[in-house]
Formats: sequence, structure tokens, C-alpha cells
Amino acid sequence: MSAVIMDGKALGLKIRERLKEKCEQLKQKGIAPCLAVILVGEDPASLSYVTSKEKALGEAGIKSRDIRLPADTQEEGLLSIIADLNKDENTHGILVQLPLPKQINELNVICAVAPEKDVDCFHPVSMGNIIIDRPGFLPCTPRGVLTLLEEYNIPIASSHLVIVGRSNIVGKPLFNLLISKKYNATVTLCHTGTYDLAYHTKQADILIAAAGMPSLIKPNMIKENAVVIDVGISRVTDASAKKGYRLCGDVDVSVMEKASFFSPVPGGVGPMTIAMLLQNVVEAAENRIRR
Ligand code: NAD
Repeated sequence: MSAVIMDGKALGLKIRERLKEKCEQLKQKGIAPCLAVILVGEDPASLSYVTSKEKALGEAGIKSRDIRLPADTQEEGLLSIIADLNKDENTHGILVQLPLPKQINELNVICAVAPEKDVDCFHPVSMGNIIIDRPGFLPCTPRGVLTLLEEYNIPIASSHLVIVGRSNIVGKPLFNLLISKKYNATVTLCHTGTYDLAYHTKQADILIAAAGMPSLIKPNMIKENAVVIDVGISRVTDASAKKGYRLCGDVDVSVMEKASFFSPVPGGVGPMTIAMLLQNVVEAAENRIRR
């Protein structure tokens, strides 16, 4: 038996179509959803992420305010731009592409974004809201994972989920969302300090891999019929590929023979993350009307 492939690309596009209609309705009410996208420096990977986000924003009818700053920008200058964007009523969300150059303290920048415009959900207040079950933005990748599970009617409540990776943007927020009363799951969080990773992953009804280690999870590390969500994205050298590399997830694709559902890389969580970013921006614009 081969796993059902969870098609994040198709679902992401469906969500983006719905958001396009919502944007039209908001525009009729005089609100044009707008995200400020700040890129400092010219790191090729960051530039490519920002370009694809801006393309998706444009296609959904969301305005992107593109702010490109030189690599030698000082922290003070960046903080002052963010302070102006916080005050600007026509900017509903602010995204600062990470990583930032060495002279800028990332945490200071994350903390400078007003929580009501923090569509990436990196601010400590946004993270805290998740932990204490208060309403607020949900981080894009965890929200994408949850939306994908819901779309395929995977039961989460009372299931045992195992997450591999404890980052602030994926592992930790996912853990806290899943243990909330809303999702009611039992969750194990593994990381580099975990002894015998396979022991834990084999217990998972739903396994979520977000470690950034190509093909870390092999078939002998999962339970028969487990649901497997691959979040990891690594560039692996491949001379036969046009760009000289290919994208590789944390999960060896041969798990498909054992899993019941599988979200692959590419085409799974990645496109969902972009769709959720757009959704957060539209919600930020809607919140603006309420305020
Ligand atoms: P990170 O790169 O900051 O940290 C990796 C985490 O994995 C750490 O917490 C570490 O403890 C854990 N880890 C690493 N190797 C491990 C091992 N052998 N065993 C157990 N735990 C291990 O985390 P991140 O920023 O969440 O990124 C993780 C991966 O997910 C990366 O490949 C990244 O590119 C990808 N990612 C994808 C999306 C998406 O939209 N699909 C979004 C964010 C991150």
C-alpha cells in the first residue's frame, strides 16, 4: 500500500483563490490589504523567498510594500522604518525577512513589530498568546500543517503527535497549539538532545519532521499507517538538476510504503506556509476594520 499524498500545493491554491475573493470584498469596503516586506541585503535565498511571497501577494490582490535596504543598514535605521510602518494605517502587516546581517540584533527587530501587524507571529507577545490560548495570529508554517491535517480529516484530538525540531517558528508553536484544548493532542517534542529518536518517532500516530536534516526519517522509524508531515527543506547537490541542486525533505520518500498519509517536499507544507501568510495579512486587514 502506498500513502495518500497530501497535496499542499492544490490546497494552498484553493485557499489563495478564496482570499482573492475576500480581498475584493475588503476593497469594496475601502480597505486594501497591504503587507510591508522588508529585505536587508542581497542574500540569494532570502531574495528568492521574498520574491515568491510578493508574487503570491500580488496574485491574491494584496498590496506589497517592498522595502529593500542595503546590507550595511544599521539596526537603528531599520527600527525607525518599522516604527513608521507600525503607525501607518494603510499597512496591515509587516514582514522582515530573516536572517538579518550580523550588525542587527534579530530579537530587537522582532520585538519592534507591533503585535497587531506581526503576521509572521514571531513577536514574544504573539508566541505568548499561543501558549496561554489567547486569540492572535498563528505562525504560518504551523498553521499550514494544521490546515493540511484538517483538510485530510486526520483525527488530531487524542492522537499522539511527535514533532522533530524545537525551533521558535515551527516546533515550539506547533507543540503549544497541539496541546491546547482546541486540538487536544498528546505531543512529544524531539530535538538534538533526544536520546534514541527512533524510539519516539515509532510511537507517533502523526509524525511532523522539522529538523532540516535531509532524509533523517527512514521507514523503520515510523509506525505502520502513521501520518507523516515533512516540513524540512534542504538543498542537496544534484548534478543532474538544472540548478545543480534539488530540494530534499527530512523524510526519506520510501516511508510512503508504510505511511497512510504523507506530505512531501516539495509540494506539501511549503505552499501551505505561503497561503497562511496571505491569510494572516487578510485577517490583519479585517482586524483593522474591527478596531
Ligand atoms: P531550525 O533549523 O532552527 O532547527 C532545527 C531543529 O531540529 C532544532 O530544534 C534541532 O534540535 C532539531 N534537530 C536537528 N537535527 C536533529 C536530529 N538529528 N534529531 C533530532 N532533532 C534534530 O528549525 P526550523 O527553522 O524549524 O527549520 C527546520 C527545517 O524546516 C529546515 O529545513 C527549514 O528549511 C524547514 N522549514 C520549512 C518551512 C516550510 O514552509 N516548509 C518553514 C520553516 C522551516
